Amino acid sequence: MDTDNKQGIESVKIGGLTYTVNKKLDLQGKTGDWGHILYKTQEIELDDSLSKQLENQTLIHEITHGILVEAGYTGHNEEQADRIGKILYQVLTDNDFSWLRDL
Ligand SMILES: [Zn+2]
Repeated sequence: MDTDNKQGIESVKIGGLTYTVNKKLDLQGKTGDWGHILYKTQEIELDDSLSKQLENQTLIHEITHGILVEAGYTGHNEEQADRIGKILYQVLTDNDFSWLRDL
């Protein structure tokens, strides 16, 4: 994953595909949502006015949608992504996974 401390993550790989992460002005006002994942163009959009924690939680939610689709659950519903995404956000936030890269 490419990261920039000030701007947040720029891209994320999900199942071999690289999704660009972009902040959008007033995404919630335009769509009613804090985030979107666009499968065909490999983009994740986030409302640019979210707090850092909510931005991160929303990004993990959108990544969860991508994980589910890559796993073949193309018909998953919003509740499933929401439940898994919230736990995944907690697990990723509260643990240090650097050991996975210590090969
Ligand atoms: Zn969703």
